[in-house]
Amino acid sequence: MSNNDTLGNARIAILGYGSQGRAHALNLRDSGLDVVVGLRKGGPSWEKASAEGFKVAEPGEAVKGADLVAVLTPDMVQADVYTQSIEPNIKPGAALLFAHGFNVHFKRIDPRKDIDVILVAPKGPGALVRTEYERGRGVPSIWAVYQDVSGQAEAKAHAYANGIGGGRAMLIKTDFKEETETDLFGEQAVLCGGASSLVQAGFETLVEAGYQPEIAYYEVLHELKLIVDLFYEGGITKMLQFVSETAQYGDYVSGPRVIDAGVKARMKDVLTDIQNGTFARNWIAEHEAGLPNYNKFKKADLEHPIEVVGAKLRARMPWLQPETAKQAG
Ligand code: NDP
Ligand code: MG
Ligand code: MG
Repeated sequence: MSNNDTLGNARIAILGYGSQGRAHALNLRDSGLDVVVGLRKGGPSWEKASAEGFKVAEPGEAVKGADLVAVLTPDMVQADVYTQSIEPNIKPGAALLFAHGFNVHFKRIDPRKDIDVILVAPKGPGALVRTEYERGRGVPSIWAVYQDVSGQAEAKAHAYANGIGGGRAMLIKTDFKEETETDLFGEQAVLCGGASSLVQAGFETLVEAGYQPEIAYYEVLHELKLIVDLFYEGGITKMLQFVSETAQYGDYVSGPRVIDAGVKARMKDVLTDIQNGTFARNWIAEHEAGLPNYNKFKKADLEHPIEVVGAKLRARMPWLQPETAKQAG
């Protein structure tokens, strides 16, 4: 059932069997492609991939003989995986594929000059990449070429994107710089950093004004899901259709007071730090130092009063348990 000329007879090594790795491996196999999964022996994923019928090998063994190697381990271990398992073993003319450009763009990985280097990133979590494929559809995916030695790099990216189902939906061309910088900006300024800080500030404002934490929790955190679902399905347009006139008027007059030109100026500062490499340098140093600040920040977030009251309230809402989805890559 493969309509896949470029990779039709290729051996594909998928390194990592987590959120993206599992979905890519299953979809590519169902598209008729030859997949081997590369994992550390003894790690929890080895059993899982074997049980799901894959040939599983140590990363270096999986890379040997592969025509395309997809690096789908966590970003912060990719440089070591490259040095130890990929660089000594990848065939000249083979393709090295990423789902996020961080390590190549920020030069933690300096790919050998005799291989293609490409990117295919579905715009959704692995579970959705899998379920949409099973429904005969796909998740829109972005693709890029960093290095093309075979003259086939673009065709390989398209073939891979088709194999995981992205081509059934939409493929958007990007480059490693755009993908990396916009991904980091989105998660820092809006999705993770911006949203969680906005929620905490709203909660603190209400509680400091004497309102009950339980009530504040519902107003500024719990109900955010309803709004985000409307954004997801139909943009700000759909949100405005579904909330009351009062909520809309409050949005128009108060939204810009909270998220004002100063916020946008600071977003630009965040973007500058991403673009000039300051963020990447700091994050890599933090990682190498054993995550001292990361652990401190995380502890503060986990102990914030909104988490204490939230845990108590969520325990009384059984329909919420336990759906943890890694939404933002
Ligand atoms: P995960 O954290 O889910 O990957 C975990 C997997 O990597 C496990 O199978 C683990 O094996 C394996 N692994 C960990 N360390 C090693 C190692 N040293 N050698 C071999 N295998 C190892 O990753 P994601 O799927 O979240 O991310 C993969 C890539 O996709 C990243 O580049 C990410 O930025 C990108 N991406 C992720 C998205 C997402 O939805 N999560 C969306 C778009 C892009 P074990 O269990 O045995 O330890
Ligand atoms: Mg608004
Ligand atoms: Mg990311």
